[in-house]
Amino acid sequence: MLESISATDYLTGAWSRAHLDRVLESELDRSTAGRQPLSLILFDIDHFKNINDSHGHAVGDSVLRELVQLVRSRVRASDLLFRWGSEEFVVLAASVGYRRAEGIAEKLRQAVAGHCFEGPGSVTISLGVAEHDGDEDAKSWLRRTDEALYEAKHAGRNRSAVARRGNSDAWAAKGGTAALHL
Ligand code: GH3
Ligand code: MG
Ligand code: MG
Repeated sequence: MLESISATDYLTGAWSRAHLDRVLESELDRSTAGRQPLSLILFDIDHFKNINDSHGHAVGDSVLRELVQLVRSRVRASDLLFRWGSEEFVVLAASVGYRRAEGIAEKLRQAVAGHCFEGPGSVTISLGVAEHDGDEDAKSWLRRTDEALYEAKHAGRNRSAVARRGNSDAWAAKGGTAALHL
């Protein structure tokens, strides 16, 4: 029972960070065994402090809830959405290499930028994308994703940045060669 309570974030209904810690290892095992890529998209609301300061904490809370609903409606059911901390969220995208994950990130960025939020109206997010490289542990993978997010923030916000490496290239190349051979 305690596990199911701690699996969701009470404010937004997104999966919790504790749940991410639990599923990350098993999803990694599954991805490696099935030779399927796995990508992380980490995003953070731009200048969220200003929203709280100008409209109050309750409006800030409702922006977080609205954002979760919006993102959930734009990703596949198999893409899990977690609240990573304050106004930072993670999408764990199954069977997706960094190129397709970059497409998902851009789609999310545009959806948020084009949405009218109750209170502030316009809200933007910055996103970092990284595919698991096959060898690293979950911590290093998250750190690389966080570095990509930092790059997106540093480059001016309302954009995504991608760590351009991952197994999907090698697996696609092998699949391509096999198909050619046949
Ligand atoms: P940046 O573009 O660099 O990300 O700027 P920022 O203002 O979004 O950055 P920062 O991470 O410093 O601000 C996050 C703010 O989010 C600070 C904190 O008060 C607020 N916050 C954290 N959790 C909650 C919450 O549950 N509800 C509300 N309303 N605010 C929250
Ligand atoms: Mg922020
Ligand atoms: Mg933040």
